[in-house]
Amino acid sequence: MTFRLVCNGCHREYDPASLAWRCSCGGLLDLAPFSVNFSQGAMPKHVAGLWRYREALPFASTYTGWQQITMGEGSTPLLPADPALPGVFLKADYMMPTSSYKDRGAVVLMAKARELGVTRAACDSSGNAGVALAAYAVRAGIECSVYVPASASAKKLKQIAEYGAHVHPIPGTREDAAKAAMEAVEQDHLFYASHIYNPFFFQGTKTYAFEIWEQLEGRVPDVLVVPVGNGTLVLGPYYGFQDLLTAGLIEKMPRILAVQAENCAPLAKAFQEEADVAQPLVNKGTVAEGIAIAAPARSRQILAAVRETQGTIMTVTEADIVEARSKLARQGLYVEPTAAVASAGLSKYLRQSEQAPLLVVREALRKGTQTVIVALTGSGLKAA
Ligand SMILES: *Cc1c(COP(=O)(O)O)cnc(C)c1O
Ligand SMILES: [Zn+2]
Repeated sequence: MTFRLVCNGCHREYDPASLAWRCSCGGLLDLAPFSVNFSQGAMPKHVAGLWRYREALPFASTYTGWQQITMGEGSTPLLPADPALPGVFLKADYMMPTSSYKDRGAVVLMAKARELGVTRAACDSSGNAGVALAAYAVRAGIECSVYVPASASAKKLKQIAEYGAHVHPIPGTREDAAKAAMEAVEQDHLFYASHIYNPFFFQGTKTYAFEIWEQLEGRVPDVLVVPVGNGTLVLGPYYGFQDLLTAGLIEKMPRILAVQAENCAPLAKAFQEEADVAQPLVNKGTVAEGIAIAAPARSRQILAAVRETQGTIMTVTEADIVEARSKLARQGLYVEPTAAVASAGLSKYLRQSEQAPLLVVREALRKGTQTVIVALTGSGLKAA
């Protein structure tokens, strides 16, 4: 099978081997649809982790390179959130090889880079993506440069360096780090291992949907509650549930309830204003550093996906996030502030659920007639 990149502006196509990361028209590249296989034999029970879905991933069926790169990422537990709300489950992706859900995207992206014969890559990140990409790059034998805001968590910077990647702390904003990475990519003809621009990353995060579907024994949750900054955990699961829908394995999409920090919420603002794209704004500062994205490049796609599922984008305050994180810790679940945002969002939603439109109904969660999945995206151990 051949896989093609396609511009979502002018529809021009590119071969992934060209290492193009943006269309000449400036548009973003997506992966053109390809056929996926979910037959019994395609999902070997003895393969734990997301590579059980490899026939739904963009690799040749003969490709075995992933076996040297995988660290068993995926197959994360679904935990009951609260005995009083049997319909709510926490998806514990903080239990990953590098301690965040970014491993899903990073392993697929680096396995793809390896398949394409890439030897040198660069990326930019506020932390967890850089950590995950550095780890999988070293396993794939790819030299990796990671551009990060100088203000990123010191623990994450150390972890990236320990994996053997070149760390480039860039003074200024998250966007300044991205600009530095793009310049290096252009100048040195590197593979841009971007979790935002490179569509293969989203092919990894789509396995989130497959796992939930299997864990719920073929059912679709009513609502998926996720934190959103650049949208890798909105668009990935959206694509994954679309794949299941196309394969006739599910009958509806889950509604996506995406949550932003009030202090940096361009998507929530655009959603409320019924705009098609988010306008860049100034990050006022948030403990949720992983989603402090002032100008999300894929805002048009994120807004469209959430609207299509009849979901919504809401905000939570700094106090909501801190409280949710502490509440999770009191349940033994130690996550970073960004990873508590979805949980904070659900609590706030339930507090306000007198208001329409009702995505999540407390009564239904209590009776277990509605199923809601809440993302726990990153471990507390590497937070500042
Ligand atoms: C990256 C990240 C997110 C959000 O991902 P986006 O793709 O920016 O929406 C959420 N939680 C944690 C812990 C992250 O590292
Ligand atoms: Zn184009």
